Amino acid sequence: MNIKTTLTEDSIPENYYNIAADLKEPLSPVLHPGTKDPVGPDDLSPMFPMELIGQEVSQDRYITIPDEIRDIYRLYRPTPLYRARSLEKALDTPAKIYYKYEGVSPTGSHKPNTAIAQAYYNKREGIEKLTTETGAGQWGCSLAFACAKFGIDLDVFMVKVSYNQKPYRRAMMEAYGANCIASPSKYSEVGREILAKTPDSTGSLGIAISEAVEKCVTDSNTKYALGSVLNHVLTHQTIIGQEAMEQLASIEEYPDTIVGCTGGGSNFAGIAFPFLGKSLRNDESIELRAIEPSACPSLTKGKFAYDFGDTGGMTPLVKMHTLGSNFIPSGFHAGGLRYHGMAPIVSHLVNNGYVNPESYTQLDVFKAGLLFAKNEGIIPAPEANHAVKGAIEAALRAKESGENKTILFNLCGHGNFDMQAYTDYFEGKLFDQEYSDEEIGMALSGLPSV
Ligand SMILES: *Cc1c(COP(=O)(O)O)cnc(C)c1O
Repeated sequence: MNIKTTLTEDSIPENYYNIAADLKEPLSPVLHPGTKDPVGPDDLSPMFPMELIGQEVSQDRYITIPDEIRDIYRLYRPTPLYRARSLEKALDTPAKIYYKYEGVSPTGSHKPNTAIAQAYYNKREGIEKLTTETGAGQWGCSLAFACAKFGIDLDVFMVKVSYNQKPYRRAMMEAYGANCIASPSKYSEVGREILAKTPDSTGSLGIAISEAVEKCVTDSNTKYALGSVLNHVLTHQTIIGQEAMEQLASIEEYPDTIVGCTGGGSNFAGIAFPFLGKSLRNDESIELRAIEPSACPSLTKGKFAYDFGDTGGMTPLVKMHTLGSNFIPSGFHAGGLRYHGMAPIVSHLVNNGYVNPESYTQLDVFKAGLLFAKNEGIIPAPEANHAVKGAIEAALRAKESGENKTILFNLCGHGNFDMQAYTDYFEGKLFDQEYSDEEIGMALSGLPSV
């Protein structure tokens, strides 16, 4: 039997938690792509509303969540916390495995947590239109939903490989009233340039970001929204971990190990940072595991260096674990994990030894996801399968050492829109891909000099 812990809607957190307040070492500054000097608010204001720029550099531990945002969170929050008893039994592990389930949101993942906040702050500053990119489509759908709630127009540049693989995600964006465009497209200069050189380009998040940023700075009263990586996005996601902490406390539990998958780092940060912050303030330790695909191994094989967030070199330079902004990962199925970089805060924490990264290949990850599905019923998103795999490995290590560990992981989304990936897995059409040091070195050789 599974334990399901739900809270009343009064338990939706009242604040976002900002880990910058508790970091022992400050983050490296964000640099202007042209001058390489630290950026100020004026450099970012063409792209983001002032409130989000403020949150990006805020040192306040708590940021009050406006009632208008909490009202929309009420549609699906608090999300449930489950104990995966059946999975524990299948693994024959002494470890307890808990998971927080973000798949109950309207779009099926954690992404609306920040989409709703970003749409709200833009609306409050009079913005009429947003542009964005999407990989697997989860972010595009989530922002489309949030924009519908606040009456904002939205252009979504969707990485072409996903646009073709996931027609239902596009339909979902359109159902919420957004405009979905396959990237690279003819609608931006960057897109036209790439199409001229590589007409059959399958696209990448880096390219789609360039297109969305270009459209935002050239259209009036239009701003840009990013679904991961940035400090304010990670901060919004901390409602996940705050709720989980309260849910675990209600059954007198506390995790020894926290596991999340990392594409840009936001769902991992969301579940882990409230716990890590507590550990940092009390000088305690907690084991944090960030799980990434071997086919896009920014944390395990990338370099901690200044790089662009996009392929066109239009975004500011941030210090992060990166594979190089020209890195184009193979078309593997966890589309949400195909980004060349990683959130600067997550990168900083890996660099300082607070977070341990691990990478796994696609076939091992799907196998883990199917074991979970057969035992717990939910079919995870391909991205979330990485977290499942990490949690299973942690439970097996506990079995080996005979320790009674309590493991918490973030089941950041369901896979109901990703069944083509599962079909491909069943038909033996998925392959593992790892990059040689030489290939990674090539991509990294293009890093900007700072
Ligand atoms: C977008 C997405 C991810 C990757 O983004 P993070 O910022 O690392 O969370 C992972 N899982 C799901 C379900 C997603 O939609």
